[in-house]
Amino acid sequence: GKLGIALVGLGGYAGGQLAPALQQTEHCYLAGIVTGTPSKIPVWKEKYNIPDKNIYNYDNYDSIKDNPDIDIIYVVLPNSMHAEYTVRGFAAGKHVICEKPMAITVADCDKMIAASKKAGKQLAIGYRLQFEPHNLEMMRLGTTKVYGDIKKMTAGFGFTIGDPTQWRLKKDLAGGGPMQDLGIYCVQGICYTTGMVPIAVTAQEGPKTIADKFKEVEQSLKWQFEMPNGLIAEGEASYGSSMNFLRAEAEKGMFELSPAYNYGGLRGKTSEGPMNITNINQQAKQMDGIALSMMKNQLSIVPGEMGRRDVQVITAVYEAMTTGKKIKIQ
Ligand code: NAD
Repeated sequence: GKLGIALVGLGGYAGGQLAPALQQTEHCYLAGIVTGTPSKIPVWKEKYNIPDKNIYNYDNYDSIKDNPDIDIIYVVLPNSMHAEYTVRGFAAGKHVICEKPMAITVADCDKMIAASKKAGKQLAIGYRLQFEPHNLEMMRLGTTKVYGDIKKMTAGFGFTIGDPTQWRLKKDLAGGGPMQDLGIYCVQGICYTTGMVPIAVTAQEGPKTIADKFKEVEQSLKWQFEMPNGLIAEGEASYGSSMNFLRAEAEKGMFELSPAYNYGGLRGKTSEGPMNITNINQQAKQMDGIALSMMKNQLSIVPGEMGRRDVQVITAVYEAMTTGKKIKIQ
């Protein structure tokens, strides 16, 4: 059988990527929706054939505990709302998938992990690239040292952000700017390519060159991770310029993806030539992978503990950026 997923928050990512991907999954399906916007209900009902009994709003959300059609809650709300809706999902006795970043504070991550343990249900983070073949190849080349030890590692993700009123530019909802939204992909890429977690960081905020949009959050930043073996890995995230790469230079060769983080059209090359890897539906692969782990009661490859680790790293990057000091990461 397939596990039933209820999407919480029917915005751009849920509607544009997750719901269509759930038409291609083998181990899970779109069983329900939770929305605060009643006008979305008829559209989703018709498009995805969702029965009335599986449609919830934010007030009656907790009663989803009595609905056996829903096995997994998938939280796709603005970042600062992830913790509350994840904890309520566990209180309803469901497994939870939570979008990245897991939360905007480590304390919230701890609450989410505790709720998961108490419910005896799994927490997984929506890290789609951990299931994506180009990124898995970077992981293989780096961690098995096909080209020897990595000597230089760089990652950057940026685009020019639009609507100045959107939640991504509001500190209370987003937790920060491009570091929370895009830099997290670079953190992930650096960790899975090197197989290491940074132990210290320095960071510098970029100038605010675009008027009006960046009153609350950074426009761009650069940071430098010190890895446990002494490697310095450099990252960059921006809402003011376009970049999309993950690159490793090792003793005997280089390997890189560009673009590295998009939903499709990823391209990789090594010093020997193009990777020639086929792009897949990342979200379908991710949700099937997570659903299988939940069925087998095995920890997924993207557990809450990994989400917490990244929130801790991001918190340290911001502390380094605002203090100008080198910050240790425990
Ligand atoms: P969005 O703005 O398109 O959608 C947000 C949804 O939350 C909307 O349906 C909105 O109505 C609802 N909402 C509820 N309360 C809100 C509030 N107070 N303010 C604003 N919206 C509110 O955003 P999105 O791009 O779908 O992002 C949602 C989450 O998914 C974020 O955490 C984001 O980081 C994550 N995301 C992940 C990926 C990925 O590739 N893994 C891609 C995009 C977004």
